[in-house]
Amino acid sequence: MVTGEAVLCHWEDQLVCPDQSGTCRRTGLTFCRDHLRAGEWIGVRKLLRVDGIADHGELVRWMKKQATGTLTAAASAWGFTSMSGRFLFLLVDLQTVLGFRRKNAVAVVRMHDDGRPDQIVGSVTVESKKPPFWTEVWPNMSRPLPGD
Ligand SMILES: [Zn+2]
Repeated sequence: MVTGEAVLCHWEDQLVCPDQSGTCRRTGLTFCRDHLRAGEWIGVRKLLRVDGIADHGELVRWMKKQATGTLTAAASAWGFTSMSGRFLFLLVDLQTVLGFRRKNAVAVVRMHDDGRPDQIVGSVTVESKKPPFWTEVWPNMSRPLPGD
């Protein structure tokens, strides 16, 4: 097709022209170009920079049931919703079984209208020391925590 299909901006929850959008290499989700910096959705930096403001305890329990592998180490999470409230952008605190090692994961969850979580969308990544400084752990769920 010449014009291509409209692409969802996951931040604004609106369809945008393909030539005005891009894919965040970290989350694997599409956004307006305006919301991308160095190939990443700019909200990722905000997630990583700000201290926790909300503990999504029920959501964390749900996430642990959905996932196997690394995400079952989820202990707490905080974040903010997209402009429409349909997507929840989360920084998830992962703890290993012994509780010594802690890692941050970035995850995006699509929400039902009633506020219950629907499904994890895009890629879930955890912080790592080597470029690009994160590792995908979902949907590639078998991978262990980097460094473990
Ligand atoms: Zn947008």
